[in-house]
Amino acid sequence: MKVLSIAYSFLIIVVSYFHALPVNAANAHVHGQGQIFISQEENRWQISLTLPAADMLGFEHTPETDAERGALKKVAERLENNSQIVELSGRCSVTKVKHNLENLKQGGNGHHDIDISYTFDCERGITEVQVLFFKWVATDLVKAQWVLEQGQGTQDVTPAKPFIKW
Ligand SMILES: [Zn+2]
Repeated sequence: MKVLSIAYSFLIIVVSYFHALPVNAANAHVHGQGQIFISQEENRWQISLTLPAADMLGFEHTPETDAERGALKKVAERLENNSQIVELSGRCSVTKVKHNLENLKQGGNGHHDIDISYTFDCERGITEVQVLFFKWVATDLVKAQWVLEQGQGTQDVTPAKPFIKW
């Protein structure tokens, strides 16, 4: 019976621990900070970004006003190609664009991340990626990570140092 009661107390502790966690823990992010992941497989490059919606739009809730709906539309148009987001150092063409901006319309409270992903077809000799969105997104620190045929690495990217080099 003693073993059972110890096990039971342990269960209570575990249960209260999970109850104590904020509901949005999985979505928690720091405003002003984002992430970039770069991967390469032969000529195919993929750049995925995660940025706080607040940094990109100025809000993180379902758009309610005309101004907010307009902002969402404008950002969606900007994401359609990579020219105001990121640029690779060589000759590349975008083959696929994906983002989850529409998810914001489904509402909910708390934080929202904008996930964006570009797939490129590139010629050989890509040596760096430039982050271009600092001009219009309030993110000022991006944790970059890359996994390429030649190796992998990480780097902090800032408006003063917008290049990711390997
Ligand atoms: Zn947030």
